[in-house]
Amino acid sequence: MTIAAPVTGTIDTHCPYCALQCGMRLTGKTVEPREFPTNRGGLCQKGWTSAALLDSPGRLTEPLVRVDGELRPATWDRALDLVANRVIEIQATHGRDAVAVFGGGGLTNEKSYLLGKFARVALGTSRIDYNGRFCMSSAAAAGTRAFGMDRGLPFPVSDLRGADAVLLVGGNPAETMPPFVQHLRDAELIVVDPRRSATAELAALHLQPAPGTDLALALGILHAVVADGHLRHDYVAERTTGFDEVWRIAATWWPERVERVTGVAAADQRSVAALLAGATNAYVLTARGTEQHARGADMVGAWINLALALGLPGRPGSGFGCLTGQGNGQGGREHGQKADQLPGYRRLDDPAARAHVAAVWGVDPDSLPRPGVSAYELLDENPRGLLVFGSNIAVSAPHANRVARALSDADLLVVADVVMSETAAMADVVLPVAQWAEEDGTLTNLEGRLLLRRAAVRPPAGVRTDLEVLHGLAARLGQPAERFPVDAEEVFDELRRASAGGLADYSGVTYARLRDGEALHWPVPSTDHPGTPRAFLDRFAHPDGKARFAPVDHSGPDEPPDEEFPLQATTGRVLQHYQSGAQTRLVPELVAAVPEAYVEVHPDTAARAGLGHGDLAHVVSRRGTVRARVRCVPTIRVDLVFLPFHFPGDGRANLLTNPALDPTSRMPEFKVCAVRLEAA
Ligand code: SF4
Repeated sequence: MTIAAPVTGTIDTHCPYCALQCGMRLTGKTVEPREFPTNRGGLCQKGWTSAALLDSPGRLTEPLVRVDGELRPATWDRALDLVANRVIEIQATHGRDAVAVFGGGGLTNEKSYLLGKFARVALGTSRIDYNGRFCMSSAAAAGTRAFGMDRGLPFPVSDLRGADAVLLVGGNPAETMPPFVQHLRDAELIVVDPRRSATAELAALHLQPAPGTDLALALGILHAVVADGHLRHDYVAERTTGFDEVWRIAATWWPERVERVTGVAAADQRSVAALLAGATNAYVLTARGTEQHARGADMVGAWINLALALGLPGRPGSGFGCLTGQGNGQGGREHGQKADQLPGYRRLDDPAARAHVAAVWGVDPDSLPRPGVSAYELLDENPRGLLVFGSNIAVSAPHANRVARALSDADLLVVADVVMSETAAMADVVLPVAQWAEEDGTLTNLEGRLLLRRAAVRPPAGVRTDLEVLHGLAARLGQPAERFPVDAEEVFDELRRASAGGLADYSGVTYARLRDGEALHWPVPSTDHPGTPRAFLDRFAHPDGKARFAPVDHSGPDEPPDEEFPLQATTGRVLQHYQSGAQTRLVPELVAAVPEAYVEVHPDTAARAGLGHGDLAHVVSRRGTVRARVRCVPTIRVDLVFLPFHFPGDGRANLLTNPALDPTSRMPEFKVCAVRLEAA
C-alpha cells in the first residue's frame, strides 16, 4: 500500500473545514492565510488552528477491533479481514441491503465517488447516504426544481462585492465563515433570523420571524413586490413559468396577515421588497436556518419565487444562491454518495445514466441496485451492518437517542475516521485514515469551483487513506483490485469519465489544470473549456431553458409549541467549532473559547424557569433532554432557545431535534422543535 508522497517545504492549500475553502499556506505544521478569491487573505480561528489536528494526541494511528467489549489495537489485515468476513456473513443471512454505508460532506470528490461505487458494486447495496442529507438536501431539491440544476452559488463569491442589496435568510456567516462577510460589506444587508446573530448585528435591517414561519414571510414580501409594482414582468414572461399559480397563493398573504403569523412588521416586508427592487444589483441567499425544516424544500422554493419575481437569477451582477456548509458539501452531493444518485449528478433510476456509469465501472447495468433511502431513514431501519466514513452521526443526526440505539443494535459498526469520534467509540472496528494535508484530493467549494488539495505532510505510521481502505475491503469482497484504485488522480480521472455528459460534468477538469491554478467551476465538459463561473446567464437547465416558480404555501412547523412544551428550540454553529465538533474539540484554543454546551435564552424566559445566567438547565423535548449552561441574551425572542450542536454526551442538541422529514429532500426538521426549560 502506498500513501500520497509528501511534499516538502511550503505548500499552498485550503482549509480543512467549511465550504468557503479559504486559501492557506502550510509550512510544516504552520498555517498562514493566503490570497484566494473566497477569503482574500482572511482566515477564521478554526482555519488558523487547523494544523493542530495533524499531531493531536487525539489522532487515531492504528486500527482498533472490539474484543470483550473493548477496542484493542489490531493489524490492518486483521481489521479488514474481520470487516469483510462479517459483511459477507450478514449479507448472506439478511440480504445485500442489510449492510449500509454512510458517507460525509467533508470527504474529497475522489472518496465520495469511490464510496458510491464501493456500495453499488462491491457491496451491491442500495443503502448508501451521507450527512449532506442533513445539510444541503432542501437547497438542492429546491434548486433542481426551480433551475433544473443544483449548484449552491451559481456565481463566484466575489460577485457579491458588486451588490447594492443582499437578502440573507437563515445564515450566520459572521460566525460560520467570517471571511465571507467582507464580500457583503458594500451592500445593504437584510438578515432574516429569529436570533440576533453576529451577522444580524451587521445588517441594515434584521427581520426576526417566529421559528418555522419563513415561508409565510417570503410570501408576504412577494405579495408586496407585486402589489407595490415591483414585479419584473418582462423577465417573468421570458425566463420563467408558473407565476400565475404562485400568485394565486401569494395574493392571499398580504403583509398584515403575514405580520400576524411571523411577527415581522408589514412595513418591514414592504421595505425589503422596495430595497431589493430598487437595487441595481441584488442577491437573495439562503442557508440552513430556512432549509432544515420538514418543509425545507418549499421554504427555499418560496425564496426562489421571490428572487424570480424580482428577475434576479441568471442576471449579470444579481442572483440567487444557497450557502453550502461542509468543506465538500457541493462536490460530495454530486458523485454518488446520495441514495438516488450516480456520478455527475445523474439519477440512479435513469436507464441511460445506469448504462453510462456501469460502462465506466465495467459492470452490468442491471447489477446496480435501485435507489435506496435517505440518511435518517437508513439509520432508522436498524441496518445489521453499517460502514461510516467521515461522519459522526452519534452527535450530528436528529433524534440522537434513537440513532444511538440503532448504532448499538447493529451486528457490525465500522468507522473510518481521523479521530475517535463519538460514533467511532461505539464501533466494532475503527479504521484510522489520513486527513486533509496528508493526502491528495479535490474538493468543490460553495461556488462550484474545483480545488486541488495536495499532500503536504506525511501521515502518522499506521494510517491509511480512505481510498486504500476501500481498495482493501473491495478486494476482500471479491472485486478485481484494479477496479478500486488507491491513487487520487487515477480515481479522479475515472470520476471525470463517469461524470461526462452529466449535469455536474467534470470531464474537462484535470489535476494538471488545477495545479496550474485555473479557476474551474463546473460544468467543464472538455479540457479546452474554460469552466462555468456564472451559470444560467442565457438559460436555465430545464429542457425549455426556463426557471420554474414553485406553488408553495405556509404550513408551520411539524411540532408547534403547546402547554407541555411551550418554547421552540433551534440549533446552529458557533465560530470556534465545526459540525459535530469531533475535530475542533481537540484543539485547545477552540475548546478554551467555547468549552461546553450552552443554551441561549431570553432573560425573562430564563427567570420564568427559575434560571439565571450561568445556571445549568435541562432543555426537554419529546425525544430527549439536553443539559446546558444558560446564557441570557436579551435580543433573542422570548419564545425561542438556541443550542449549538457541537457537543457530545448529554450536551447533544440533537437529543431534542425532530426527525420529521421533508417529503422531497428527506431533510429532517433540525431547526425547530417544541421544548421546555427546567433547572438542572
Ligand atoms: Fe475559512 Fe471556513 Fe476554514 Fe474558517 S472554517 S478558515 S471560514 S474555510
